[in-house]
Amino acid sequence: MSAITNHMPTEELQRLDAAHHMHPFTANGPLSKKGARVITRAKGVYLTDSDGEQILDAMSGLWCVNIGYGRDELAEAAARQMKELPYYNTFFQTTHVPAIALADKLAQLAPGDLNHVFFAAGGSEANDTNIRMVRTYWAAKGKPDKKVIISRKNAYHGSSMGSASLGGMGYMHAQGGLPIPDIHHINQPNWWAEGGDMTPEEFGLARARELEEAILEMGEDRVAAFIGEPIQGAGGVIIPPETYWPEIQRICDKYEILLIADEVITGFGRTGNLFGSQTFGIRPDIMTIAKGLSSGYAPIGGSIVSDEVAAVMAEVEFSHGYTYSGHPVAAAVALENLRLIEEEKMVEHVRDTAAPLVREHWLKLTEHEMVGEAVITGLMASIALTPDKSTRAKFASDPGTVGSICRDICFSNNVIMRHIGDRLVIAPPITITPPDIEEMFTRINRSLEQAASAIK
Ligand code: PLP
Repeated sequence: MSAITNHMPTEELQRLDAAHHMHPFTANGPLSKKGARVITRAKGVYLTDSDGEQILDAMSGLWCVNIGYGRDELAEAAARQMKELPYYNTFFQTTHVPAIALADKLAQLAPGDLNHVFFAAGGSEANDTNIRMVRTYWAAKGKPDKKVIISRKNAYHGSSMGSASLGGMGYMHAQGGLPIPDIHHINQPNWWAEGGDMTPEEFGLARARELEEAILEMGEDRVAAFIGEPIQGAGGVIIPPETYWPEIQRICDKYEILLIADEVITGFGRTGNLFGSQTFGIRPDIMTIAKGLSSGYAPIGGSIVSDEVAAVMAEVEFSHGYTYSGHPVAAAVALENLRLIEEEKMVEHVRDTAAPLVREHWLKLTEHEMVGEAVITGLMASIALTPDKSTRAKFASDPGTVGSICRDICFSNNVIMRHIGDRLVIAPPITITPPDIEEMFTRINRSLEQAASAIK
């Protein structure tokens, strides 16, 4: 059998892909008829496909390639580590330098007293750790009934049974009998879709106070933690009103509820600070990290926990861990990624250069007839598509139909945006340069014009 390589004709690669590869979050039948686009290499913010097309990746892969593609330093860090120590675990009284060094670095970088790291291979695993950790923490403190975790509708925290239960996607719960017990969902702070006549500020307070109502209803002795993404990413880049997070923080403090900030997307420069918690003034007890931790070059995630949580957990033998917790190669890649973020001042680049320029272009999209709100924090942005901005109306077609038409047109114009229902979102690499930003908006604007004609 001949080897399958980048040099094979696209149709042949697509045929083999359809024959044997099950894609995540995809109806594989329809995809197999159309054929998946085959990505062969990438550099900076550009992907190249098997037909030689250059595609501007305004989504950083799955919101993860923060430093951009093609950084040899990370490949070299992986090769060095693979030669020296490709694998060892940290379960049974052993450790290794990459895990020590990465945990030390994260303790320095994370805000407040988040000084202790439990590693995983990605965000779903890390959130599963969080479920078991907060319940174990409260049990160790003599409160075994304090185990309900409150999350939000339309949140995304991963795809495993636990993390998808934390998430608030009804269509995910419908598959596989979710959620698991003792997870409760309150409403999301999505002002555009659900704010009605309230101002964003009033709405932010109202939605945060649903947390307090839920705690009072269930009893604070039953509620272990609240989990939230500083900005809901996969839910459509829902940037909460300014009043939201301070009120959530106040409520968590008042009722002694652990606050988990899921920073899988918002971490590592995305919002113009190293962490979204800094952008929104959140003081989490636990922070979930993944994606930008290694810029997607190697699978790694984790939970960074406070001194207090770690002190209680230190007295427990926590029966939890993954074969790849703190994987030495992934940890070495993550360390190198963090070194580049710091040395090349990438967070400053977001704040001072990239985000202001993207913002200027992004807000102008509301001049377009189909674009209702345009919101942006750092390099994470969304627009809501609507047939009538004045009433914030929804399209008559099934939710997501217009969004998917727009997204497909973007794809054919070689710019990757994602559609989430009828919202379009971007999260480009944090290293994106002004010329690439101009090119990104040339392609986005052209696509939106074409989409408007297609939809009429
Ligand atoms: N949490 C958030 C906020 C995410 O956006 C994601 C993935 O998109 C996850 C958790 C799950 O991470 P992973 O896909 O690495 O398991």
